[in-house]
Amino acid sequence: MVLRDGVPTASGQALLKRLNLMTIVRLIKDHPGISRAEVVERSGLTKSTISVLVQELLDEGWLVEGASLVTSDVGRRRTPLSLDGTRIGLLGAEIGVDTLRVVACNLLGEILDARSAPHEPGDPATTARAVAKLLVESHDALIGRRYGVLGMAVGVPGVIEDDGSSVRFAPNLGWQDVALGTLVRTALGRKCRGLSVAVLNDARAAAFSQYVFGAERHLEPLVYLSLGMSIGAGVVVGGRLQVGHNGLAGQVGHVILDPTGRQCSCGRKGCAETVISQRAVSLLVTGKETPVLAVAELTQRLRRGDAAAQEALARAGHHLGVLMLAIGNTLNPAVFVLGGPLAQIGDPFVITAIETMRAELGRFDHHDVAVQICRFGQNACALGAAGSVLQNAITA
Ligand SMILES: [Zn+2]
Repeated sequence: MVLRDGVPTASGQALLKRLNLMTIVRLIKDHPGISRAEVVERSGLTKSTISVLVQELLDEGWLVEGASLVTSDVGRRRTPLSLDGTRIGLLGAEIGVDTLRVVACNLLGEILDARSAPHEPGDPATTARAVAKLLVESHDALIGRRYGVLGMAVGVPGVIEDDGSSVRFAPNLGWQDVALGTLVRTALGRKCRGLSVAVLNDARAAAFSQYVFGAERHLEPLVYLSLGMSIGAGVVVGGRLQVGHNGLAGQVGHVILDPTGRQCSCGRKGCAETVISQRAVSLLVTGKETPVLAVAELTQRLRRGDAAAQEALARAGHHLGVLMLAIGNTLNPAVFVLGGPLAQIGDPFVITAIETMRAELGRFDHHDVAVQICRFGQNACALGAAGSVLQNAITA
């Protein structure tokens, strides 16, 4: 808050009002269906303030009122308040190694428009133009359905600068120090004028999909593991994504599991990515670096009883279990959420991982950690990027 001699200034008052408005949105998001009286109780704000601010939020398209209900004994009426899913839209994108994805969703995380295009990493400006094209199409789809757009964010498999504007290092894209926010903003042109473009790590974005829109938001610590061409983690503790001292938290793909192992894209040897990723599994199955087998192909091979695929996935699953064990011992999470294409391969990959982890964790009495498969599938990163726009708006 901006104060002058202890008195809120005009801009301070505006900021305070915005904070109060977003506190109300956050409360109603976490407790859909609560009444104004319950908002007063939970927020500590006065009844008259809540009355004015709730009306403002109804007018702005954040909230919607349900049919009023008569409460039991004294015949008092209460009107349930919920987030409005029909007027404010969010845009999220994922820049993957082989695919670009964009989703448009409402405040409830319901997907209203989804698009994708093949991607070959190379010149960042070319990628920015391609992702901007999809964003403009989804933006127009939202406008066509009479939604206002709150903002947009892009998930990238790499290390992102603290201010969420640029990519410091993305080994799987071959990028270093790329001002991606500015590149996408420029490529969007005039159509999306005034909208911010935030950049965030892909696994953190995907963790947000579960945290902002999933049922797991009350389970903490939550560890989301992204399992695909790269391996990464998004960690939520105390209601916030952990970014670490230098923005480097969650780089679990570069935890060394085998110091004498294969060279990783980061330059070190035997990182988790060299034994768990899709590339690592594919190499074990075919003995070749390229082409990297698609998850659909791996699944088909398993169905045919292909022993090499079976063994490669069980071995990668074992390594994943060892990695989860290390994370489990460090953070004592309430829940692991497994996402990314490899998470779709339950047996033997995920099953072996869970068995490996539980066998060891059980000895230390934290055997009740839950393991779930991400419910948002291939849209997790883009949807979570969209979710980050909402989360950032409502978090002081
Ligand atoms: Zn590495």
